[in-house]
Amino acid sequence: MSDLDASHDEALARFRELLRIPTVSHADESLIDWQPFSDFHAAVERLYPRLHATLAREVVDGHSLLYRWPGASASDPLVVMAHLDVVPVVEEEWGHAPFAAEIVGEGEDAAIHARGAIDDKGSLVAILEAVEQLAGEGFVPAHDVYLSFGHNEETAGGGAQAIVALLRERGVEPGLVIDEGGAVVDGVLPGVSVPTAMVGVAERGVMTLHLTAREAG
Ligand SMILES: [Zn+2]
Repeated sequence: MSDLDASHDEALARFRELLRIPTVSHADESLIDWQPFSDFHAAVERLYPRLHATLAREVVDGHSLLYRWPGASASDPLVVMAHLDVVPVVEEEWGHAPFAAEIVGEGEDAAIHARGAIDDKGSLVAILEAVEQLAGEGFVPAHDVYLSFGHNEETAGGGAQAIVALLRERGVEPGLVIDEGGAVVDGVLPGVSVPTAMVGVAERGVMTLHLTAREAG
């Protein structure tokens, strides 16, 4: 096995471990079991030691995480975002257990089945792996880099807002913010017959509409 294969396998094992922690969010926060969020925080700290030796970590709004990676300059920092929570599951709708992170298929067709594999622990783990590797090599970014991991994105909760308020209070003005995007998907755009990677430039908001229909149904 080559070094690359070995490091790939280790990254895969870390990803699967984090997928197995059911950080399920609910619109009614009184229904949330916070233990998995504490377990998740602890697992991230244990799995990414070089990141934690280099970046300053803060818990914001109870369960969100904010890291600062000092760069050569504190101006125009980069903010990379992901979220820790996943939406609830209806177990019967799953052909594979949603929190087992089972690998189904062989070789190039192998795929992980787990709630949150795409939304959004895939992005989260990609960020953690990249920073862990670079921090371990002693890399110093040109500008400060913030990692902003909200705990209640799926319910439009306050984690990310609290991080924004904190950064604003500290006078941090990001040069660039990158959050999760869409997946590479097939067949969602009429007339497009190849897989499409959507680049999102805005996130959902809230709109209330009152509709009146005047034609026969
Ligand atoms: Zn998401």
